[in-house]
Amino acid sequence: MRLFGTLLTLGVCTLSVLAQDGKEKHAYQSDVARLRKIVINSLYSHRDVFLRELISNANDALEKLRLTSLTEPDVLTGAEQMNITIQAIKDEDGAGRIIISDTGIGMTADELTTNLGTLAKSGTSDFLSKAESDTSGTGNLIGAFGLGFYSSFLVADRVQVASLAAKSSKNPNPKQYVFTSGADENSFEIFADPRGNTLGRGTEITLYVKGDAVNYLDEQTIKDLVNKHSSFSTSFPIYLLTHR
Ligand code: ADP
Ligand code: MG
Repeated sequence: MRLFGTLLTLGVCTLSVLAQDGKEKHAYQSDVARLRKIVINSLYSHRDVFLRELISNANDALEKLRLTSLTEPDVLTGAEQMNITIQAIKDEDGAGRIIISDTGIGMTADELTTNLGTLAKSGTSDFLSKAESDTSGTGNLIGAFGLGFYSSFLVADRVQVASLAAKSSKNPNPKQYVFTSGADENSFEIFADPRGNTLGRGTEITLYVKGDAVNYLDEQTIKDLVNKHSSFSTSFPIYLLTHR
């Protein structure tokens, strides 16, 4: 089923502990902890935005790959398709997962840590202080600022991001890494993906959907959201994998 459907942040890394099992545990930067709290506690009525934000990130990653290929053509060797795939899996116990994948630029372990564990967006602290002082007006603020990756936690109690950075002369042997964090944890883990390099290239985001958000596992709901929020703002095809 085909539906139709365009950065880089720098930040300071925080405390990290290398555990014996090879999993690195990192504490979130304090602004991230504040933002996640707002997302999880006060934006219940704006949950829909998660899909728009994740598709927008996937699209940015594909744009970035395209741009990089102009000066480093070898980044395009490997998986040649440039697309976004969405899949909803209902588990037998009634819970489920939404998996959003892209074949974009991907992230190294350091980029997963910096890009998903710290905030470097201009205006973020502005958003935080406005949102904290006036939760009734938060809905309007979202439109102005965008919530980004943390909006995943509106619908997921755990998020896992697996990513394989594009191969390049600077990074000839990229390795797939995983970022994972729970909605009520103030830390995240980074580790080498035990599955190996399963992605041809790019990023796979798995949302372990909250019990009260299982409506987002319905194919029609996903189609409607993509058509409503993302169909004209992306430059790459969006596929919905269906199970029949
Ligand atoms: P923004 O998109 O405004 O920078 P986000 O919170 O949405 O903020 O994302 C934070 C950063 O994480 C992005 O800037 C990007 O570097 C990285 N990122 C998020 N999703 C992806 C993805 N699918 N592929 C590659 N990088 C990503
Ligand atoms: Mg974004």
